[in-house]
Amino acid sequence: MIKIKGIAVSPGVSIGKAKILTREKIKIDKKKISLEQVETELSRFGKSVDEVIEEINLLIAGISDNDESTEILKTHKLILKDPGLKENVTKLIKNDLYSLEHAIQKHFTNVIELFKNMKNDYFAERSSDYEDVAYRLLTHLMQNEKDILDVLDENSIVFANNITPSGVTKVYARNIIGICTEKGSKNSHSSIIARSMNLPYVARAPKLLNKIKNDDTIILDGIKGEIIVNPDRRTLQEYEKIKDERSEKQKELVQLIGVTARTEDNHEIGLMCNIEIPDEISVLKKIKSAGIGLFRTEFLFIDRDELPSEEEQFKIYKKMADSIKPHPLIIRTIDVGGDKLSRVLNLESEINPNLGCRGIRISLQHIPIFKTQIKAILRAGEAENIKIMFPMISALEEIVKVKKIISTCKKELAEKNINYDANIKIGAMIEIPSAAITSDCIASECDFLSIGTNDLIQYTLAVDRDNQGVDKYYIPHHSSVLRLMKLTVENAHKHNIKVAVCGEMASQIKYIPFLLGIGVDELSVSPGSYLEIKKIILNSNLAELKLQAEKVLQISATKEIEKALKEMTENYD
Ligand code: PEP
Ligand code: MG
Repeated sequence: MIKIKGIAVSPGVSIGKAKILTREKIKIDKKKISLEQVETELSRFGKSVDEVIEEINLLIAGISDNDESTEILKTHKLILKDPGLKENVTKLIKNDLYSLEHAIQKHFTNVIELFKNMKNDYFAERSSDYEDVAYRLLTHLMQNEKDILDVLDENSIVFANNITPSGVTKVYARNIIGICTEKGSKNSHSSIIARSMNLPYVARAPKLLNKIKNDDTIILDGIKGEIIVNPDRRTLQEYEKIKDERSEKQKELVQLIGVTARTEDNHEIGLMCNIEIPDEISVLKKIKSAGIGLFRTEFLFIDRDELPSEEEQFKIYKKMADSIKPHPLIIRTIDVGGDKLSRVLNLESEINPNLGCRGIRISLQHIPIFKTQIKAILRAGEAENIKIMFPMISALEEIVKVKKIISTCKKELAEKNINYDANIKIGAMIEIPSAAITSDCIASECDFLSIGTNDLIQYTLAVDRDNQGVDKYYIPHHSSVLRLMKLTVENAHKHNIKVAVCGEMASQIKYIPFLLGIGVDELSVSPGSYLEIKKIILNSNLAELKLQAEKVLQISATKEIEKALKEMTENYD
């Protein structure tokens, strides 16, 4: 039995057999690039090498000194820094118009062949280091695990170097019961999706893939962030017991299905769920969610070779709206960029993607694609329970522009005698400090606001939500974040509109009393936390929470805030 420590990303306990995502399946598109693409490919090259070196540095930092894998990782860094790599790949891109992935594959295949032909054990070992580095670089660039996931057995626990958001959705669709990765972070979209799907997930477990074999028996403890490989009988029994207790607790929560989320002093809170893929609606119906507060539509655009048409989108939105009726379905227009880069949109990679062309910025740069999505939503809106919401709004002007585009779409639909919802409600996500600070102006043009705390924290604290190296700076309860949320709620209420929180803070019990205390009207949470959050709401007294939240807002030291928030939750059983 061995124990491997990682970070707890998605809670829950799973017991099953290990399945390692192997590396043979990387498929490279061998199409030639155009001359204009040469510069982009070269800059992607430099950036990806730097990023992979950084990843290796982080892995080294997480390993104790004198560990043999530190030496291996240092060798991998040397391979990446080898001037021969740069020279060959650059030549293949510039002279032969190879795509970056194709050039990397060609370079490494040549080097590996060379080593293998030397028929010497030492060099044979070196060739596997080159294979490793090629794999790291290519998976980093392509984030492609789809073919491998297609062949996984149900009830297995997946082990991988890393997993993409769409990879998690595939894992879920295959009834896989847990995920363990060497990389990853708590706030990435992959992690959010795993939590939303109730899939236990442990990330950042160093040297993981060297320690596991396919079909090893695994206990995945997503609460402690621990992986136990081939447990002894006593440990296995202990964990079977923990699993049973968790399912007992779950049974108690099941009693709350269908109960209205109303506080003790009779304030109803709109408690909805976030979803990423339409299939998740079946879970929402089981727990009787009072609506969908955030449908992240970008997942309809990822991992495909062509864009979804208006008709395809219309059918999806309409089916979802009908099945969640009479509750609302809040559709967020695509928010690609950051870690959600879409192949199909052919987006150029950026040095700083989270500060680059993301969310509404991309939609406003690709108006025809944006209009297709808006028309599909407007048409599906005939069901009358759809609202539309826009991500990454940084200023009033963007909402004004978006509203003009919606008017044009309505006019064009009317001209063709196509039915649509003329009164569709429009909302802005407040997830950039500039939007929170000017939320009075933005509220004046909207029917509702929704606070995206994941990005609000990222942009307020200048901390990349996907960068594990700066995790400790990602502090949801930083007083700046709490104050921006409070300001947003006040401004929304001044304009008589409701404000929701749809970021991950709304799914964490420790923040719920505070959010209710500052007057948040609605929460859109991960389906896995829905009933637990409902229990908190039912046991809350809003008048008391208001007073306590006021006090929290007066505190500036983070540690003290943490303590005060803890005290607010201590009154619940
Ligand atoms: C957020 O930023 O809080 C949010 C809900 O949006 P996403 O996580 O999709 O960026
Ligand atoms: Mg966001």
